Amino acid sequence: MQTKIEIPPITDWGQNLNFPLLIAGPCSAESEEQVMGVARALSNDGRVRVFRAGIWKPRTRPGSFEGVGKDGLKWFSQVKRETGLMVATEVVMPQHVEMVLKYGIDMVWVGARTSANPFLVDQLADALAGVNIPVLVKNPVSPDLELWIGAIERLWRSGIKRLVAVHRGFHPYERSRLRNIPKWEIPIDLKSRMPSLPVICDPSHIAGIAALVPEIAQRSIDLSFDGLMVEVHPLPSAALTDPLQQLTPDAFSQMLSTLNFRDTSSNSHEYIDFLEQARNKIDSIDQQIIELLANRMRIVEQIGVYKRNNNVTIFQLRRWEKILESRIECGEKMGLDVDYIKSLLQLVHKESIKKQAEILRGNKPVNGE
Ligand code: PEP
Ligand code: MN
Repeated sequence: MQTKIEIPPITDWGQNLNFPLLIAGPCSAESEEQVMGVARALSNDGRVRVFRAGIWKPRTRPGSFEGVGKDGLKWFSQVKRETGLMVATEVVMPQHVEMVLKYGIDMVWVGARTSANPFLVDQLADALAGVNIPVLVKNPVSPDLELWIGAIERLWRSGIKRLVAVHRGFHPYERSRLRNIPKWEIPIDLKSRMPSLPVICDPSHIAGIAALVPEIAQRSIDLSFDGLMVEVHPLPSAALTDPLQQLTPDAFSQMLSTLNFRDTSSNSHEYIDFLEQARNKIDSIDQQIIELLANRMRIVEQIGVYKRNNNVTIFQLRRWEKILESRIECGEKMGLDVDYIKSLLQLVHKESIKKQAEILRGNKPVNGE
């Protein structure tokens, strides 16, 4: 059973935090100059409340730069002193927690490679128990909502109440335009399972290249995410980690100015009336779609019985190819996305095959038989 999680509102965390929660900074802390350069630029911009930088970097392959380690901690202290920004870093092992607490780090995050590891999350949760700093939980690398929820629950159960989920996309098994596939439905499901949990987006790791970061950031805002964590580096091309996806401080400020942080709701009568009418239309259309799907299924069943009686196989490749081709063509003409129609049809077809297989096995009585 899912643990009941009630996160207190972020505005009550006593740290001057607000929505949208904006976190920015380099992927990795590399030197005092680099850290201070970004922190000063962010503080001059004035819209970001939390500075981020990784000092322990769990890398995919050995031999890569694995972070400056505890040497970076004093730079965080300097950022706090000089700019008043809060500071956040990634913790992977309990020893990291001990060290960050000594240096007054304000927030920590559990990375995508760690949130997938229940024992490690438990160890971090034990180390963080009784300490009231916010903990950000990135989604695990694979698109497994239960594993993400599990990590959040493990932290919650050890008494950590200030939790934020960070959506950073999922590892693609196929080549894609983006470094990590967003699969927006997963964080949206998370939000409906844990409505009090703030969910922010890390568009840098989803995009993988700087040019696509604003587009992903806007998308997350449109989907009512509660904030952003963005990688910002003074000279991205020279970055020791993730050089392609980091924004310069100027590009980051410019992005913040162009993003449209929409209201999640509006009290205007016109807006409410419009929304109600539009929703009524959608309700009615959805009802019709379901009725049509049910009608379609009745016919599929009839065909199933017919195939069984005539001893014919269920799956007919030519027919399926024709269905796909003609429906995609029709959908495209009507302005629908090809992948959308294709996945819809695949779902409908899969269910039809399943139904006919049941009929063929003879374990499903069919109306009228
Ligand atoms: C990071 O934020 O720099 C990072 C390593 O992220 P992730 O764990 O999402 O890969
Ligand atoms: Mn990174």
